[in-house]
Amino acid sequence: MCERRARLRAERLLEHARMELTAANQRLKAHAFSLSDQIIEQRAELQDMRSIAQELEGVNTQTAQELRQAHCVADLADIRLREAIETITDGFAVFDSAQKLVLANQAYLSIFDGFSEVTKGIGYNRILEICAYEGLVDLHGTEPGDWVQSMLARWALAQIKPHEMHFTNGVSVRLMDRRVPNGDYVSLVRNITRSLRYQAQLIDAQTQAEAAVQAKSVFLANMSHEIRTPMNGVVGMADLLAETNLNNEQRIYAETIRNSGQALVTIINDILDFSKMDAGKMDLYPEDFDLEKIIHEVLTLLAPAARGKSIELILDYDIFLPRHFKADPGRVRQVLTNLIGNAVKFTETGYVLVRAVGVHKSEQAQLVHITIEDTGIGIAAEHLEHVFSEFQQVEDATNRRFEGTGLGLAISKRIIELMGGSIWLESELGVGSCFGCSLHLDLAADAGHSFPPPLPSALHQVLLVSDHLISRSILERHFQSARVKTLTATQAAPALRLLGQHKIDLVLIDQDLTSDDAAQIAGMIEQQAPGCPAIMMCSAMADHAIPAGAGGVRHALPKPLLWRDVAVSICATLTPEQPATHAQPTLAVPLAPRNPAPDQKLLTVLYAEDNATNRLVFSKMVQGLDLDLHFAVNGREAVEKFTELRPDIIFMDISMPEMDGREATRHIRAHANGRSVPIIAVTAHALKEETEKMLSAGMNGTLTKPLRKADLLDAISRHSPAP
Ligand code: ADP
Repeated sequence: MCERRARLRAERLLEHARMELTAANQRLKAHAFSLSDQIIEQRAELQDMRSIAQELEGVNTQTAQELRQAHCVADLADIRLREAIETITDGFAVFDSAQKLVLANQAYLSIFDGFSEVTKGIGYNRILEICAYEGLVDLHGTEPGDWVQSMLARWALAQIKPHEMHFTNGVSVRLMDRRVPNGDYVSLVRNITRSLRYQAQLIDAQTQAEAAVQAKSVFLANMSHEIRTPMNGVVGMADLLAETNLNNEQRIYAETIRNSGQALVTIINDILDFSKMDAGKMDLYPEDFDLEKIIHEVLTLLAPAARGKSIELILDYDIFLPRHFKADPGRVRQVLTNLIGNAVKFTETGYVLVRAVGVHKSEQAQLVHITIEDTGIGIAAEHLEHVFSEFQQVEDATNRRFEGTGLGLAISKRIIELMGGSIWLESELGVGSCFGCSLHLDLAADAGHSFPPPLPSALHQVLLVSDHLISRSILERHFQSARVKTLTATQAAPALRLLGQHKIDLVLIDQDLTSDDAAQIAGMIEQQAPGCPAIMMCSAMADHAIPAGAGGVRHALPKPLLWRDVAVSICATLTPEQPATHAQPTLAVPLAPRNPAPDQKLLTVLYAEDNATNRLVFSKMVQGLDLDLHFAVNGREAVEKFTELRPDIIFMDISMPEMDGREATRHIRAHANGRSVPIIAVTAHALKEETEKMLSAGMNGTLTKPLRKADLLDAISRHSPAP
């Protein structure tokens, strides 16, 4: 039993153990399952992690690759920048905002060869110290410390100015520094050694050229002086010879000598002017002048040449254009003489018409257009633009018919441009030319418009006998503006018919009628209408005497006509109480008469001149005047004769032996009685500066050789003491 019990217990125990084992197994199994699930899960996670890791590894490799590429690009850019900077021949450096060197090319560093500390990181101040204290830079006497400070102060400025620096090894540089927006400094050291040397050579060459031009001017002035002195003898004597009793042939010879001499003087003047303009030394001397008078004078001067070729000279001066302006009258006259002279020279028949018109006027100035129209040979279109250039003539030298230098128009153009104006030309070959110039002229201080005198109220109707259409229409216009009616006729028969049909107060007859004789017409008019006054318009000065047989002619008016003179002449003709006068220029010389009263003192004139021919020319020119004339052959004698004679006027040559004219003038002026005596320089120097020198040396005026009789008489007249 016991055994059985024991066996049963054992069996129960076994069963229990088996059950426990099974339960344990069950738990173990469940645990194993959960473990395996865990493992599977973790494995999946690991797998995920691995693939993420692999992915990351890929990204990392790409980034590293990109980084490497970026490094390469940066290296390349750096190399390029350095290479580029190295190609600059000028020194180039960059400093950071703390003024430490960041980068510099070899050209910059080579300045500091032997100074190993000049490398990346060095301060700008240290570089300056090396320059100053090591004697690299020529400090031009400045203390090194001061120089360094001034250079540092330069960098502190908002705008760093360029600075020129000279190294002691002969190299010169220009520093051009900039501060860039990030605070860095960029410094460019430009080597200017060659350009400075070149500049110095240029200045040298310019000085030499100026000296050469100066020498040329002096040479030309001297040559002109030398040529003028004998020309005084030639022109002066020919002038006097032409006034003596000569037969026709002799007169032609004398006039040819005079004209050729005068032409030579013109050429000398042209060359002198040209050389002055070439040297940029042509100055203007503005003063008040009468423009209408100047144009008329130039036309009058050219009248003999025009008369020789039967050219009608006509002046049409705008009635409303003021006459008085302020400019250089000498130069205005020169331009007009050239343009009108050319018109006369290049015209055989027809007319030369000078028109002056006011275009635009302000309070102080007036734009004036002056045109010179001729019916001459004209200029072909292809030559038009060249004629204003130097030495340009339409005809070539081999077949020239006309005299001239080819300088006149070039000089005129430069003068006009110097005055701020312009010059132009229209021309047609075989038909004629029209030169024009426009000038902005300042009005003279007392430029109040001076109208010609009003015509007499008794004048209602005028008969104009002229076959020149332009002259006629200009006169008609003037009469119309004065409210006087004009009847016109071109020949004797219609003139007489009109005279019979109308009440005519005055007849104006042109002497140069082509079909009829003007003097005969005057006679016929006198017969048909006795007492009807007539005025003859004459082209020749010598013909101003009223032509024989010209009965009713009361006045002779010289052509080219000046409306002012016409008006004066009409007034004189129609105002009975005024005796008829001839509108001839009179010399207002208050000189003693030819047979002076016994107590009347003659004008004492002293002329200091070393050249015997010039003394002779002078004495002949004044021989018509009763002068007490004395000569001195040098300045010293002039001073002696002054104290002895106390002359009323002294004419003083400038270049004389022993004592020249300027010194003699100083001596005379130093004398108590010599302060007010008029002293007129007579000089062969044509330069304006010379004239000024003479005036400042105490002289009252100048006359240029060759002497012109009219100028000499005018000077005597103006400087004579009041009687
Ligand atoms: P020149 O001393 O030869 O007259 P200019 O410079 O005054 O020199 O004139 C240059 C040239 O222009 C003349 O030689 C001539 O050929 C031409 N010329 C000037 N004015 C006229 C004109 N009114 N009619 C025709 N040709 C002219």
